[in-house]
Amino acid sequence: MKSVQNHMSKISILGIEGTAWNLSAAIVDEDDVIAETTATYKPAAGGIHPREAAQHHANYIKEVIRETLRKGGRNIDAVAFSQGPGLGPCLRTVATAARALALSLDIPLIGVNHCIAHIEVGRWKTPAKDPVTLYVSGANSQVLAYRTGYYRVFGETLDIGIGNALDKFARSAGLPHPGGPKVEELAKQASRYIPLPYTVKGMDFSFSGLTTAAQESVKKHMLPDVCHSFQETAFAMLVEVTERAVAHTGKNEVLLAGGVGANARLREMLKLMCEDRGIEFYVPEKRFMGDNGAMIAYLGLLMYKAGYRTPVPDSKVNPNYRPDDVEVKWL
Ligand code: AMP
Ligand code: MG
Repeated sequence: MKSVQNHMSKISILGIEGTAWNLSAAIVDEDDVIAETTATYKPAAGGIHPREAAQHHANYIKEVIRETLRKGGRNIDAVAFSQGPGLGPCLRTVATAARALALSLDIPLIGVNHCIAHIEVGRWKTPAKDPVTLYVSGANSQVLAYRTGYYRVFGETLDIGIGNALDKFARSAGLPHPGGPKVEELAKQASRYIPLPYTVKGMDFSFSGLTTAAQESVKKHMLPDVCHSFQETAFAMLVEVTERAVAHTGKNEVLLAGGVGANARLREMLKLMCEDRGIEFYVPEKRFMGDNGAMIAYLGLLMYKAGYRTPVPDSKVNPNYRPDDVEVKWL
C-alpha cells in the first residue's frame, strides 16, 4: 500500500464513521470523495440496540475498509475516525479498527468530532462559508456557529435528539424504524393541527414532553393529524432557535445538517425564515447529510493539514464529545 505512488501528491485521508447505525469508510482529497463504502445496521425490531449495532460494525468493518482502499487505489496519508459523540460500543469498534490500520500502515491517526464533521462537509459541498448550522440527527440536535476559535453551541436539546423523538413516537404508533420519513409521509394527509407542548427554554429546546404528549394524542386523534402537529411544533422550535442564533451572531447563512435534514417540511420552514431575513439557506446533497464516512475523512483532511495528530494513548473514544471542546485551528 505504502509503495503505491500518491495521486499527484494530493493529500488523501481515509475516514471511518460508525457512531450509530451507519458504518461507512471513505477516502477524500481536497477536490472530492475518491471512494466510499457503507454498511447499514437495520434493527430487526424496535430502535437501535447499541451492542447489536457495534456487533454489526465489527462484522463488516474489515470488508468496508478493504473495499474503500481497493476502490481508492492510492496511498493514504492518515486515518481519521469518529471519536464521538455516539454510542460507546459502536465508537470503540471503529476506534479499534482505525488504530490498527494507522499502526499497520505507519501513518498518523486523527480523532474527529462527529458534529463538526457534519458542519465541515456542508461547508465543503455547498457555497456556505460561515453559517449558523442546524444539526438535526437521531441523537443530536444543536444550533452551532463559529466564533473566536470554536464552533460554539448556541442552542441544543435538553433531552433527546429530534430524530430519536420522531422515531420513538413513530414506534409507539406502530410504524417501523426509522420513523422520521414515515411521520413525514403521514403528515401530508393531515386535515388539522392539534396543539402540542412547545418547549424552548432560553436558547435550548426539549422534545421528550412533546413526544409523550404526541403518544397520548394518538389515542384520541387521527395519526396523520398527530404526525403533522408533531412536525409543526418540533420544527418551529428548531427554526425559532436557529433564527435567534442568526440574529445574535449577525451571520448571513444557514446550513442544514444531519439525517432529519432530509425532511421537506423542515427545509421549507428554514427557507422561509431565511428568505424573510434576506440570508442564504444551504442544504448539502442527501449523501452528505446523514452520517457518512466522507465527512469524517474531510474533517480529518482539514485537521491533518493544520497539524492535528491523535497519538494512540489519546485516542480513547468519548460518547459525549462536545463540538465546543475542539479548538478550530484550520479556519
Ligand atoms: P442521522 O443520525 O443523522 O444519521 O439521522 C437519522 C435520523 O434521521 C433518524 O432518526 C431518522 O428518523 C431521521 N430521518 C431520516 N429521514 C427523515 C425525514 N424525511 N424526516 C424526518 N426525519 C428523518
Ligand atoms: Mg450525525
